[in-house]
Amino acid sequence: MLTVMKFGGTSVGSVEALKRVSEIIASCKGNVVVVTSAMSGITNFLEEAYSVLPFKAAEVAERFEKKHLEVAEALLGKDNMSAFLKEFESRMKVFTTLIQDDSSRLNDPYYMDNVISQGERFSSLLLSHQLILMGKDSAALTSEDCGIRSEGRPMNGHADLRSTEAAMGFMIRPYLDRGCIPVITGFYGVMENGKPLTFGRGGSDYSAAVIANALNADLLEIWTDVDGFMSADPRIVKSAVKIEEMNYGEAAELAYFGAKVLHPRTIEPIRMKHIPLRVRNSFRPEDCGTLVSHLRRPREGLLRSIAAKTDLSIISFSSSEMAYHPDIVSKILSMLSEEDVTLYSVSTSLSTVAFLIHNNDVRKTLKKFNGSNDPNIERIDIKSNVALISCVGDSLLSRCGVSAEIFAVVKDAHASVQMISEGASDVSLNFVVPMGRVTDIMRMMHARFIEGGQPKETE
Ligand code: ADP
Ligand code: ASP
Ligand code: MG
Repeated sequence: MLTVMKFGGTSVGSVEALKRVSEIIASCKGNVVVVTSAMSGITNFLEEAYSVLPFKAAEVAERFEKKHLEVAEALLGKDNMSAFLKEFESRMKVFTTLIQDDSSRLNDPYYMDNVISQGERFSSLLLSHQLILMGKDSAALTSEDCGIRSEGRPMNGHADLRSTEAAMGFMIRPYLDRGCIPVITGFYGVMENGKPLTFGRGGSDYSAAVIANALNADLLEIWTDVDGFMSADPRIVKSAVKIEEMNYGEAAELAYFGAKVLHPRTIEPIRMKHIPLRVRNSFRPEDCGTLVSHLRRPREGLLRSIAAKTDLSIISFSSSEMAYHPDIVSKILSMLSEEDVTLYSVSTSLSTVAFLIHNNDVRKTLKKFNGSNDPNIERIDIKSNVALISCVGDSLLSRCGVSAEIFAVVKDAHASVQMISEGASDVSLNFVVPMGRVTDIMRMMHARFIEGGQPKETE
């Protein structure tokens, strides 16, 4: 039995949290591979520190070092630091040299990926040395050590699953064969040129799924700070409840459309090998969390979970009778793809095609199309600051009146629907509303379709 366990930032964010997760790891039967995020706050710290580099590099390095050393001393004890310090100092040396690099690299997004992925190298060290102190054999490994191959754009990389599998089998098996627990850095892989490339914020979930795929694990466990995959974000809907079982499709849709508990691409590598996933709470390990797998038992009720993706824009391209000229749409799509723009929804009419994209992608999209001077595109319109609400439930397409029931709630919330995406999947119905209305609509929908009553909380 091989279990890949991933711990998020809050799960490794303090001395107590690190001790708690070490106990969880030590009590797991069979082989274990651990994947960890940076300690909570560290990736944000690196992102903010980036703006003062390289001038304040010494100060940044000092604060970074102090934070990790304080935790290490409290965790391991002053007398048990020598093996830890040896590895720590060599990783600190690499970090300090990196951030002192000349300022001409600061505009290079690959360099930024390298800097902000540094936190994972230190949390993995802390966790591994705590396991050693508990009498376990453990090794702190980087993505470079394991051969996790990444490709794509900065902050948006994805793994090359084939070459990662080939490399990891070779590099990790010897550790497992001797009963050692590898603790691996999440968040990034390594490009062909040997440089780090991150999978985007929250990317350690995806790292863990990639590692589970590469090692043909029997189980992936994502340990976080809530009881499992819930019926909505509990920070928005206080009465959200844990979902016991989900299938891969449901979890993937919700993660893609804003359920932050999983990185959007987490499901892809495990679904292809039918590896079950459990989402669990590291602060309440007695709870068995949510099981995500190929099959699940059917359930009563219209909806199972609701997610929202905020900060989106609708960009519409108009051209007379576009529907008779599919080549125009195909050209627009390939230009969007050249700019690596993620599409969250598409809607068409006779003379307009509208895409839902992230607010951050609007500027580069407009630049691309204005620069192309394509005579076929007569107008481009933008509606910014909208949000997409994604409703996931069983057989939404085959049930009668589902949309009517859902849109009745939007009407009761005095909001207007700006775009609809229905029919592409039997498990989800998505629609776009103004950003300011999202919280109310989500709470009202949760109350009506999941709790079966009126919302309990008010703003
Ligand atoms: P980690 O640091 O462990 O990766 P994240 O902060 O990335 O944790 O993800 C966990 C958070 O995701 C929860 O604290 C919760 O607020 C948020 N979240 C959003 N949607 C959901 C959902 N449907 N189920 C559970 N948590 C959710
Ligand atoms: N440390 C990274 C982040 O904060 C990756 C992760 O936590 O999954 O985004
Ligand atoms: Mg996360």
